[in-house]
This record gives sequence, structure tokens and C-alpha cells, in this order.
Amino acid sequence: MDNNRLAELLFPNINTTPEEMEARFPRRTLPEGAKVTRFAPSPTGFVHFGGLFPTTVAERLAHQSGGVLYLRIEDTDAKREVAGAAEALIRTLSVYGIDFDEGAILGDDGKVSDKGIYGPYKQSLRGEIYQTFAKQLVKEGKAYPCFTTEEELEELQAVNKKEEIKNTDWQAEAEKRRAEMLARREFTIEEVEAHIGAGDPFVLRILADGDPEKKIRFTDLVKGNLEVPENDEDFVLLKSDGIPTYHFAHAVDDHLMGTTHVIRGEEWLPSLPKHLQLFRYLGFKTPKYMHIAQIMKLDENGNKKKLSKRDMGANMDDYTGMGYCPEAVCEYVMTLLNSNYEEWRMQNPDKSYRDFPFNIKKMSVSGCLFDFDKLNDVSKNVISKMDAKSVTEKVTAWALEFDREFGEELARDKEFTEKIFAIGRGGKKPRKDLATWADAKPYMSFFFDKFFALECDYDEKYDRNDIKAILEGFVKTYDESDDMNAWFDKIKALGEPLGYASDMKAYKASPESFKGSVADVSMFLRLAVTGKLNSPDMYAVMQILGKEKIAERIGAMLEKI
Ligand code: GLU
Repeated sequence: MDNNRLAELLFPNINTTPEEMEARFPRRTLPEGAKVTRFAPSPTGFVHFGGLFPTTVAERLAHQSGGVLYLRIEDTDAKREVAGAAEALIRTLSVYGIDFDEGAILGDDGKVSDKGIYGPYKQSLRGEIYQTFAKQLVKEGKAYPCFTTEEELEELQAVNKKEEIKNTDWQAEAEKRRAEMLARREFTIEEVEAHIGAGDPFVLRILADGDPEKKIRFTDLVKGNLEVPENDEDFVLLKSDGIPTYHFAHAVDDHLMGTTHVIRGEEWLPSLPKHLQLFRYLGFKTPKYMHIAQIMKLDENGNKKKLSKRDMGANMDDYTGMGYCPEAVCEYVMTLLNSNYEEWRMQNPDKSYRDFPFNIKKMSVSGCLFDFDKLNDVSKNVISKMDAKSVTEKVTAWALEFDREFGEELARDKEFTEKIFAIGRGGKKPRKDLATWADAKPYMSFFFDKFFALECDYDEKYDRNDIKAILEGFVKTYDESDDMNAWFDKIKALGEPLGYASDMKAYKASPESFKGSVADVSMFLRLAVTGKLNSPDMYAVMQILGKEKIAERIGAMLEKI
């Protein structure tokens, strides 16, 4: 076979050479050890939690090493493309601290445009580049055309699938496929000429040289040392529209764009033999690979299963509505990514997660477990360290978007709102009441008359006259200028003559000698003033509400009982 003639027949319009492509996309000059990583989404939908995960690894490794993180849009499957998905992906990732140095970025007009010299960063615009390398492979006898039409192929696949189900004789099946494949390799240049002359579409296949009995040793930076079989499948490089398959585009793009570390989901591991073969055929240096395990969750029966697209927590866009702050989500992702992160965090409570020395070796080889309880714990910690001003701003902004009525209350008097969020904040052991901004309403909306409501009533066991006496007594003696001790002494003094122990030790020693304790007395006040049995520190609450409002609420309660 005259391979040069074949190449000209198949790619008459390609006049560029691989050397020219190499010159167009020069090797990067970066400091020693700098890593070049990328996120390479197909614009088919939202950012999945399982996508943020490898992308955070890519971001950390690039930026921690003084390297480059770039974004490549893998839009080779036009049928699955969703309009606007690329723009949405970029926006969402940016919320979670993933900003790209290069690649497809959002312009001021909200549209995707290119930044950097390795573009176009949209695969659909790189046809000439792929075809240049494809032509070269044909010239070298490493790829060949296959004129079986897409419909015929689909039919064949459908038949094969059915056969697979029926046919338990795997060996016979494998041999049949092998024979089919070998038959595809047999053709004459005249046949190709006739097809091309008739305008028949073709796909370009690799001429696989592998022997699946033989194994390739390979080190994945996450999975460790692996042995994968050589590839013997003549897989498709270019589809009939000249658009590459993932495999071919991956090899060409990651080579030309200078990716040092390919970080992707482990679902690509079975394709690795194809990729290793391609890099070898093309004469490219193989990048380092990191195959990241799928994110798992526990199902109702406590079994681990993949976090699927439809699961709660999968779509990163949902987190905003749920009221999670991005800082907390990033922090949570870090705890999942590196086993020593939490220890580091304890030693470095005030540092940014970006100061953590991220280590590939500390990554989990099997799937990490996604768990809302853990996320909430992490989030409470993160929010507890924020100051009142910033919590006020964030909660207000969130509420204005997702709970307008509440947001308007918060925004009415910023100073007042900030005082509320200042309760228990700033000390060594800050309160950890909020996991999400949505938690703010049940936590503190009682400060606003609009949302104040009695959530329950006093237990039957309490003598109504005692409650009345305490509430009335409190209003009479309450003095805003009392410090916390003086305030609390008054509360104790109200309960004592009625049989409520003011000394908790004495009460615990013989509870039967008392009607209750100062804890019950406080609860009488708490319920009247906040409508709840649990609330932030009552002294602080009362300081913020003021004497008048306290008297008003207690008065209403007195009328009720
Ligand atoms: N477009 C591929 C995907 O979305 C990218 C995989 C990769 O990172 O190489 O799965």
C-alpha cells in the first residue's frame, strides 16, 4: 500500500505538518517542577461534585508549583452539547476557587473566549490540528480509513450487543470480532479511490499493534503501580465528520498544550492502553496520569454507591440555594482530598486552605465518601471563624436572593443585624450554630417581630403561678446596665423563694428537694422572649432586644398564661 497516496486521498486539504504544529505550539518554559494541569469538561451539563474534586486537585497542583491551570472545552459530541453549559461551568468553578490562568475564559460579554497561545481551546475548532496528525499516522501506516457507515456501525454494535447477551461462547465471539477487524484492514488503494470518488464518508481507525496477552507496566500517581493489557482494538481516531474521538483529541491536545499531569476520573482507566499506544504512535512524551476515584455515598441500607447526577449534593449549583458558603465547600473538599488535612487545619486554624501543602501521596485510592453531616460540621467551623460583619453581609445577600422577606428584615438595620451575629463570635471557642445561611432564620429570626412566634408552651409540670411571678418579677427588676453577673444574680433571686435552686450543685445533689433550678427559671424567660427553648446567650439577646421589647414579649406571655 502506498501510504503517502492514501494520506493524500483521505486528507487532500491538509497541508500542514506535525512539525509546523509543534512550532505553532512551542514547549512551555516554566520553572523546574511546575505542573501544567487542565480541566477538560464536555459542555453537557452542570458541574458535578465529582468533577469539582479532580479539578481542585488540578488547581492545587498547578498553583502550588508555580504552573498553569487551563480550561479546554471538549465539545466533540455536538449531539450532547447543551447551550450555555460552558459559560455556566466556568462561573460555577470560579465560585469554588477554581480560576483558570489560560484557556477558555469568560469575557466581559459573558461569552467564552480564548486566553493563551495554545488555542483554540475548544476542540470543535481544532479540526485542522487533529487532521494534520491523523494524516501523518496514515503516512506511517499506523491508521487507516474504514468506510463502514455510521448506521452500519451502529447496526453492527446492536447485533454484537444482542449476541453478547445470547452468546456465552466468549472465545468464539472474540475471534469473530478479531476476524471482522482484520477484514477491515484489508483494502486496496483503488477501493479507497472509488469510495472517495463517490463521496462516501469514512472514519479513521488506528492500526493497533498490541497483544492483550502482554501487559504494560505503568505508574498512576494516585493508583500506584499498575499493569494494563496492550491495546489490540482498532479504535476510531476521527469520526466521519473529521471530528476526533476523546482518545485522539486527548493525546494531541494534552501534548500540544503541554499538560504535565492528566487528572481525570477513574472511569478513563480502562481506556489507558489506547492512550499509551497513541502517545507512542505519535511520538509524544506520555504525561503523568492521576485517575481519581469516584465519589461515593451511603444509600438507605448503608451500602456504598456512586454519587450519581441525580443525588442531592451532586450538582454544585444547588449548594448556593441550600445556603452553603463556597469557603466551606472548598474546605470540605480538602478534607476529602488529603487524609492529613484536618490535622493540618487544627495546627493552622487561621490559614487559607491554599496554604496547605497538598500531597498526591495522601490521596485516597478508593472512592471518598460524600456525607452531608461531615460537610455541615466543616461548614460550622468555617463560619464560626468569620466575623459578624462578614456573616451579616453573606446571610443578607443570600436571603435577599432566596428568602426575600427575611432578607429585607436583615437588611433594614444592618447594625442591629450585625449585633445579633456578633453573639458568641470572636472568642477562643466561638459558637457553631450555622452550617448554612439557611440556618440563620431558625437561629435568630425571633429578633424580628415579623418572625417571632412561640414554638411551644411551658411543660404542664410547672406551676403557672410560679412562671407568672418570675416573668413579672423579671420585668420589674431588669436593668439594661447590669453586667452579666448582676443580671444572672437577679434571675437566681427570682426563683429561689419559689423553690427553684440557684446553686446547681445543691440541686443535683437532691433534686427532689426543689421544684426545679435556675435553669428552669432561665427557660421561663427564654421561651417568653425568644419563643424557643434553645437560643443564643440570653444576656446578649436581651441586650440587643432592649428593655421595651423584652417587656412587650413577656407581657404577651403573661396574658397568654
Ligand atoms: N471530556 C472528558 C470528560 O468530561 C475529560 C476527561 C479528561 O479530563 O481527560 O470526561
